[in-house]
Amino acid sequence: MHTDIKNLTIETFSYCNAECIICPNSNLNYRRKVHLMSLYDFEYIIRLFPKLNEVTLCGCYEPLADSRLPEIFDIIRKVNSNMNVRIFSNGSLLNKWEEFLLNNENLSSIIFSVHGFSPKIYNELMKNLDRDKIYNNIIHFIEKRQLMKKTKLKVEISFIRTSLNIHELNIFKEFWKRHLIDNVYNYELMNWNGTLKNYHNLVDAPKLFSRPCPMYENPLVIDAFGNVVRCCYNFNFTYGNVKNDGLTNYFTKKRISNTYPDIDCITCDGWKI
Ligand code: SF4
Repeated sequence: MHTDIKNLTIETFSYCNAECIICPNSNLNYRRKVHLMSLYDFEYIIRLFPKLNEVTLCGCYEPLADSRLPEIFDIIRKVNSNMNVRIFSNGSLLNKWEEFLLNNENLSSIIFSVHGFSPKIYNELMKNLDRDKIYNNIIHFIEKRQLMKKTKLKVEISFIRTSLNIHELNIFKEFWKRHLIDNVYNYELMNWNGTLKNYHNLVDAPKLFSRPCPMYENPLVIDAFGNVVRCCYNFNFTYGNVKNDGLTNYFTKKRISNTYPDIDCITCDGWKI
């Protein structure tokens, strides 16, 4: 039960400053109200899990756009001084937080979402962001980490494969290896339970086979409104609000088939490969 949960993915805000075409935020029909989780609720939620040793700040939002980052880390430290924190970020606001993040003992890894190498492809996929500024931000951050010998802090990159960027994957990997990035992850494109516009043109290879969706069990994801959501690719289905409804619905969920885990997942490609 929730006493065994060691890793939680949580949003503190529902806003992102980008409009990537591979994210449901680009689809006006699915865009959420801008909402900040209160710091009181944030602390309440992470205290629900006594064995928690890792908090991941991630979801359909940009964690570095939350100006309360220092208070958020203060709360995490108060709950567990040894808590590891992971952040997924687009890197656009990194210069504002560089000192803070590099001097933060709880930050164990920062994973930058960078889905293109050339300015043309990057800017086509990651709307509202500036490729050259972000590349410079990340390179500067890595160089500073080397100088400060912050070897415990991992700096990683995620690249989502699409029909637009797949031809850049090798040069992308080589470039970041040269810049001493710890890991480059390349992930498949997801259709976010059928909410991603233009998915069929963006997917790099058709998914022809079924599989038990690996996202169903892990991790536990709580959105900025306090809702326990289906998974990190479906913020529309909720198991209820953690403060009002508790976690029983989440912990008593059962897969209904060996492919799509539940009836609302039928339109999702999480169970296809
Ligand atoms: S199939 Fe369901 S559990 Fe899997 S990624 Fe899609 S919405 Fe999430």
